[in-house]
Amino acid sequence: MELNKGQQVRLTNGKICTVKKELGRGGQGIVYLVDYNGADYALKWYIVQYGNAFYRNLEKNVKDGAPNKHFLWPLAITEHQYDSFGYVMNLRPQGYEEMGMFILAKARFASVAATLNAAIQICTAFQQLHLRGLSYQDMNDGNFFINPKTGDVLICDNDNVAPNGCNTGIAGKAGYMAPEIVEREAMPSRTTDYWSQAVCLFILLFLNRPFEGEHYLSCPCITPAYEKKLMGKEAVFIMDPHNNKNRPVKGLHNNVIMRWPLFPQMLKESFQQAFCHEAIINPMKRIIDMKWQEIMVQTRSQLIKCPHCGEETFIEDRSAKKHACIDCDKALPEFTSLSVGHYTIPLVPGQKIYECQVKDSKNMDELVGEVVVGSAGSWGIKNTGKMVWTVFLSNGSVKMINPGQGFPAKKGLKVKFGSDLTGEIV
Ligand SMILES: [Zn+2]
Repeated sequence: MELNKGQQVRLTNGKICTVKKELGRGGQGIVYLVDYNGADYALKWYIVQYGNAFYRNLEKNVKDGAPNKHFLWPLAITEHQYDSFGYVMNLRPQGYEEMGMFILAKARFASVAATLNAAIQICTAFQQLHLRGLSYQDMNDGNFFINPKTGDVLICDNDNVAPNGCNTGIAGKAGYMAPEIVEREAMPSRTTDYWSQAVCLFILLFLNRPFEGEHYLSCPCITPAYEKKLMGKEAVFIMDPHNNKNRPVKGLHNNVIMRWPLFPQMLKESFQQAFCHEAIINPMKRIIDMKWQEIMVQTRSQLIKCPHCGEETFIEDRSAKKHACIDCDKALPEFTSLSVGHYTIPLVPGQKIYECQVKDSKNMDELVGEVVVGSAGSWGIKNTGKMVWTVFLSNGSVKMINPGQGFPAKKGLKVKFGSDLTGEIV
């Protein structure tokens, strides 16, 4: 039953919330603006029947709390009343746009850095959700609200989140579902989440859908049988290096045609691996959440400001043939790289070194170092964090680098970050 303005709804925590107005509605339910604890919140109220298992799962999610701050997580659940139930969550703050708006070019990221920030936050959020033993089950472009200026992400529609292996009945959204779900051989799980996550990341960066190319368009109409063929185990990635039958089409898929050549080779190869035939037919061959996080953090390290034009550009591994700005096409300077743990960080002025790259850390944004230009014009790494670093010089001597101090970004030097990883400048 629908709720009316002024109606009071009892929550299982003994409190009540009062309906102020309707904010929107979908197939599953209505979202109301409510007063709860003297402040404005959102109440999602179900208009379709859900059984006890769904209610108990939701209740458990409320009790356990959000995996991290990027989820608009259920905060309190209502009692069964007025023939239904619902849950209270925070309101979406101003300035956040649905991911679908970016695909339609109705919203635009302020910078590539903001785009990558969004990608990293999505990876971190799902990794922490999976660490809890949960799976999200219905990842799609409607679940993400993103701030185009900063790339800050809020993940909504968390009511299908359930322990891995348990299903709330949802199969997912077309275009985001793993092939084995499309083929009706499996229900959503952590490995199907990995698939949907790769689809979301691809769309976020390239603003086109990964399996809708020439071959997809040649289909006269998307019937369930065709859907199974195009999105099931015979799906072909639009950028598959070994199969060109589903390439993006000029005039229709211009975003990916323009953007694909600009991104680092490592990132492109990761998508080719994630969407290769092997990964389509075998869920165990997929790139997992933790690896996606590494890939996005590495991509962030390859994004620099061009010293000639000041625009954002990607810098490739030093073994790459071409080293030119993607914007002004001028040659980028010679540089060394810090090879540490899973990362290779190009050492160019302004480059930041993050805590998560030099030690086990859940915070992807905490800085520990920065590449600076010294008084003689040479480049060095400054310790901007709290740990003391140990630098091993080529003559065998050892130097301690306290916070605030630095050392030259010179090939052959080794550096130990606190008591954690040791990196080498290559
Ligand atoms: Zn440039």
